[in-house]
Amino acid sequence: ENGKLQVSHLKKFFQVGKGETLKAVNDVSFEVYHGETFGLVGESGCGKSTIGRTIMGLYNQTGGEVVFNGKNVHELSERDKFDFHRSMQMIFQDPYASLNPRSTVKEIISEPMEIHGLYPNKQERLDRVYQLLEEVGLSRDHANRYPHEFSGGQRQRIGIARALALDPEFIIADEPISALDVSVQAQVVNLLRKLQKEKGLTYLFIAHDLSMVKHISDRIGVMYLGNMVELTNGKDLYKKPLHPYTQALLSAIPIPDPDVEDKRERTILEGELPSPINPPSGCVFRTRCPFAMEACAAIEPKWQEVEDGHYVACHLYNKEIQDNPPIKETVY
Ligand code: SF4
Ligand code: MG
Repeated sequence: ENGKLQVSHLKKFFQVGKGETLKAVNDVSFEVYHGETFGLVGESGCGKSTIGRTIMGLYNQTGGEVVFNGKNVHELSERDKFDFHRSMQMIFQDPYASLNPRSTVKEIISEPMEIHGLYPNKQERLDRVYQLLEEVGLSRDHANRYPHEFSGGQRQRIGIARALALDPEFIIADEPISALDVSVQAQVVNLLRKLQKEKGLTYLFIAHDLSMVKHISDRIGVMYLGNMVELTNGKDLYKKPLHPYTQALLSAIPIPDPDVEDKRERTILEGELPSPINPPSGCVFRTRCPFAMEACAAIEPKWQEVEDGHYVACHLYNKEIQDNPPIKETVY
């Protein structure tokens, strides 16, 4: 229990339409350790952004808890809330939408410092803005310009400078490179890594694309339809993915060298992503799983640690179910 961030049995449900419930996040548990990058991966709508927003306190959870540096983030005193918002910052997917078009870069980066009463001296604050601009690979000449004068990658750098203004320990990066040109993505990723090294930052890095996350994550959690289905370190996830969904995601990533023949066995995803309003019974992945069996419709797979630090929710790895499959006559 020494995680910097502990997410335990987190649930976030939304009421939609006529008494229907959208289970955006359904009983998800993981820890993020000090100084690591934890990648949270899954298709859009799987609940990963909702997790990020719930951790930040932008949503109240429906169940479970989020503990940051030993404190439950949804039960903070006003004073602690203030400190929490300094410690944890967010970088957003869309740098275009997240920067006020009518503010200069200087104003955008200064704002969090003003709110938190940091650098009350005007010149010191300006120096701090210059310093932040340089840290993210921009220059002080950019301080008086407006967001529209910058490219997508530069705008994301401005967003990063703003997130760093309060000198946080923890950054939630919600698809920070998805909206950028491929050529720029690596630059922003490299910047994030450099800043992590220099400042000892901890990242929760949210992405829909495993190929991107694998370069930067120490550990990775794979989400499907509001559930976490597998969690392990980056290396094991690529070498021996256990969950059929992870296997499918990985086999969809092309081998980078065009001269190498691709001999991998593929797990192809059939069918559509079901709605989180009426998720399948038992295992949420069963409607698309090539290995689905009787038990998968009847019983929700347990979240179990099958090897040291390698967790999976799938009946294929549950000895009890393998040995005693539910009888065929069961009516579901
Ligand atoms: Fe497939 Fe069943 Fe495992 Fe779900 S529990 S991933 S349906 S084998
Ligand atoms: Mg999202």
